[in-house]
Order: sequence, then C-alpha cells, then structure tokens
Amino acid sequence: MDTNSLAHKLTDWRHELHRHPETAFDEHYTSAFLADRLEEMGITVTRGIGGTGLVGTLKKGTRPNAVGLRTDIDANAITEQGNPPWKSQNPGRMHACGHDGHMVQLLGAAWLLSHTVDFDGTVYFICQPAEEPGKGARAMIDDGLFQRFPMDSIYGLHNMPMLPAGQIHVRPGGIMASEDNFTIQITGKGAHASSPHMAIDPLVTAAELILALQTIPSRTANPLDPVVVSCTELYMDGAHNAIPSHVTIKGDTRSFSPDVQTMIETRMHDLTEAVCTGNGATYDFSYTHEFAPTRNTPANTALVARAAHRVLGSEQVYDTCEPIMISEDFAQYLDHVPGAFFFLGSGVSNIPTENTMLHNAGFDYNDHILMTGATVLAEIARQALED
Ligand SMILES: [Zn+2]
Ligand SMILES: [Zn+2]
Repeated sequence: MDTNSLAHKLTDWRHELHRHPETAFDEHYTSAFLADRLEEMGITVTRGIGGTGLVGTLKKGTRPNAVGLRTDIDANAITEQGNPPWKSQNPGRMHACGHDGHMVQLLGAAWLLSHTVDFDGTVYFICQPAEEPGKGARAMIDDGLFQRFPMDSIYGLHNMPMLPAGQIHVRPGGIMASEDNFTIQITGKGAHASSPHMAIDPLVTAAELILALQTIPSRTANPLDPVVVSCTELYMDGAHNAIPSHVTIKGDTRSFSPDVQTMIETRMHDLTEAVCTGNGATYDFSYTHEFAPTRNTPANTALVARAAHRVLGSEQVYDTCEPIMISEDFAQYLDHVPGAFFFLGSGVSNIPTENTMLHNAGFDYNDHILMTGATVLAEIARQALED
C-alpha cells in the first residue's frame, strides 16, 4: 500500500468508526476495530487496559527508548443531525468531537511507522476510552499503563474546527484549561409570596451570590491569568405564589494552574459564606476537580513544532498559539511523563465562524487532514526516539 492508498484506507476506516460511535467505557466495537487494524500491521496489542482501552507496541532495533502516541476513542451522547452517508447507526450517539478522526490518524501513524519510517526504539499506540467524562486516562494509568509500558514521553492531538485545516498549533505550558464543578445548596425559609417578612428568601440570596461569583475572574484573579466562572444551572422548590425554601446553584470553572484552581475554590467558598450569612440563610458547598489543566513540557513542545515543520513546512506551524478554555484528560498523563498536546486545524472554511464546532450535532470530521495528522504523529515518534 502506497501513501495514496493509505489516505483512501484511512478515509474508509474513519467512516466505519463514525457509523459505530460508542460512549465512555462502552467502546467494545471501536476497541476491537482498532486492535484488529493494529494487529494486521504486525503490531502487538494488549487489550482491556482501563476497561475498553488498549495499547499497541511496535519495537524496532535495540535501544530502550520509548514514546507514547495517544488517541481518544469515545463518542458523545448526542443525536447526529447531519446526513453524511456514514451517519451514526447508534441512536443518541455520535462522534461529535472528532475522536473518529483521531483514531484513524493514530492508525495511519502506526502504518507509516511499521512500514516506511525507520527508528530505533519502541512506539506505544495508546487508545484511551472515556475522554469525554474525563475518566479514561485515569483508568488506564490506574491499570498500570506506565509500569507495563514504560515510556520517556507522550504526545496527543485534538482537531480544532476554528483553525484552518492542516495547521499545527502548540504552545509550551498551559494549552487547555482545568475544569472544576461546584454545587451550592442554599437553605432559607419558604413563605407565602405576599409575606416576604416571614421568609428567608434563598432565591434573592442566590441572585446576589451568582453576581458576586463573577468578581472572582474580574476582581480577584490576576488579569493575566485566564479564569472562567460559569453558573450553569439553578433549581428551586418555590411556586408562582410561594417563596422557595431551597435553591441549588451548579456551575463550572476553568483555569490553567493548580494555584488558580485553589484560589477560585477558596474565594467561592468565602463569598458563599458571606452572602448566605448576610441574608440569614445556610448553605452546603461542594467543589470537585474534574479535569487538571494540560501543561506542555517546553522541550516536547519544541519537538512537536520541529516535527510538524519538517512534514508540513513552517507556514503551517504555530508554536506559541493561544490556549483554549476547553479541558482534556491528556493532562493526567503529563503528571507522570513529559510530553505535549497540540491542535490540528480541521476547519473546512477559512472563516472560523463558518465551521461547525466540536460537540455540535452537525459535526463531521474533515477527511482531508487524516494524512496530515498521521504523518505528523509518525514524525514526532521518530524524532522523539532519536533524542
Ligand atoms: Zn469532546
Ligand atoms: Zn474531544
């Protein structure tokens, strides 16, 4: 198979995976498909790591150096609204984040590394379940990923529809944000809507608190540290003519460092206490860490830029791109080994707003960049093993 035939093969595989989307830890068809393709290339596959995850091992030569290339494999619980010939056949499931494309790019890299690219060392092809809920990387690590497959560095990518197709964007340090979730339950005292003097109104307290929380990004955080605080859900047990007794506020925060995460949590708790106490209400506060910030190691970031530069030319590579506030559980791997995560532009149009965004029910992967991702990943592995 030459590289032209490989491009066609990758497109067929991408459509096949798009037809059969499976969500977190339920990726049985997907996992078997990946294992079969890797084994057809002569790559040793270890299945069932962290549930439906797997690792392909390709060793050439004698050096002990090893590098990991990672793809996510799960789909979204979204009903596909587009109508491609390869439309999802699983009701309520679709590849709306482009993990079908990521998988095929990893398979393409595996084919290139097993057939055409010379190297001396070991490449691990890490196929990770459950990226969407942020649980899969942790599951593979807890299942001994780095003990069973010791590696010196790890790399991964995500497609970005707002970037022009085929561009590589990377940066040292924070590239994707943390995600923390919070729940604040406020208890007041319900009463007839006509008698506010008999009530402790948790809804007015919640309204004050929601506004106060916006002072965390605007007044507490350093303006040079990006912070997002979003209250996204509000529940209460009132009625048209009754002041409620209970209000629950839920939401989500984003930032780029553990220190800022701690600052947000502390300040949020302090504001909750102050506003609730000031209004005579009581509260219950919970704050959970869902995704760590993804922080690229500088040397590995430079390696991604060098590899992409070699394959694509300098005009397609941006090595100090802007970070984005989306979160990614690739961050978990970087707590164990150095590495870098980068974006591959997947926009069909050069006008960013004309492209369908990730998690939109009309999203479909741009097949024109399948080979781009495959060749960049293969070159990254080759260069990493030369280091
Ligand atoms: Zn996603
Ligand atoms: Zn994704």
